[in-house]
Amino acid sequence: MATDAEQVHSGEGFDWRAFDAYLFDIDGTLLNSRDRVHYEAFLNAMQAMFGRQFSLEGITLHGSTDPVILLEAMVRSGMSPTEGRDALPEAMERMCAEVEARATELRPELCPHVSRLLDELDAARKLMALASGNVERIGWAKVRAAGIHQYFRFGSFADLRESRTEIFRWGANEARRLLGNEARVCCVGDTPADVQAAHACQLPVIAVATGIFSAERLRQEHPELCIPACEVLLGSAR
Ligand SMILES: [Mg+2]
Repeated sequence: MATDAEQVHSGEGFDWRAFDAYLFDIDGTLLNSRDRVHYEAFLNAMQAMFGRQFSLEGITLHGSTDPVILLEAMVRSGMSPTEGRDALPEAMERMCAEVEARATELRPELCPHVSRLLDELDAARKLMALASGNVERIGWAKVRAAGIHQYFRFGSFADLRESRTEIFRWGANEARRLLGNEARVCCVGDTPADVQAAHACQLPVIAVATGIFSAERLRQEHPELCIPACEVLLGSAR
């Protein structure tokens, strides 16, 4: 992964170290799943409930949330939005149960230098939390399988908050509840949707091009900092 200084975009005066809390997206930011457990759990949940095949083809997965993906798949298969919404709780429960039952099949690959970054932030006594479009039990299952769960104080997930904006807003509020109202919070994500959601909450965001989006694409959303990988941040946490 290239780390040329010219690939790093930073708004004037933005000091990424100057925060008390960091909200990390999971997929593409902390790790990439090298298995199909989560993906298959979507399909198996719906198939078990409705006795027919579903597809996620053509549905935006990256930057979306689990409930939105489920709802879209159900509506595309001919169900009404109301039917889909009614089916969501059971579908999510089934997904969680499947992912937990297949936890040993999870193959999360940490994004480059994530372990060291988390270590450095931890040593600098920063609060770290998860803010992900996954449902809670699946998000934690991935992070646990990757061996980095101990770094995160809490998580904000898509079970109760369907939009990414609400996920980040709840996470920032929780960080401020724990640290005090003046706590400065920064988001870290890998998709245009992460940057947009953070900005919708008036939160600064570090965009990392370790998911499927290039730094060039992410830069179009004007994140406060855009980097090819976390390596760029190493050695400067305080
Ligand atoms: Mg992501």
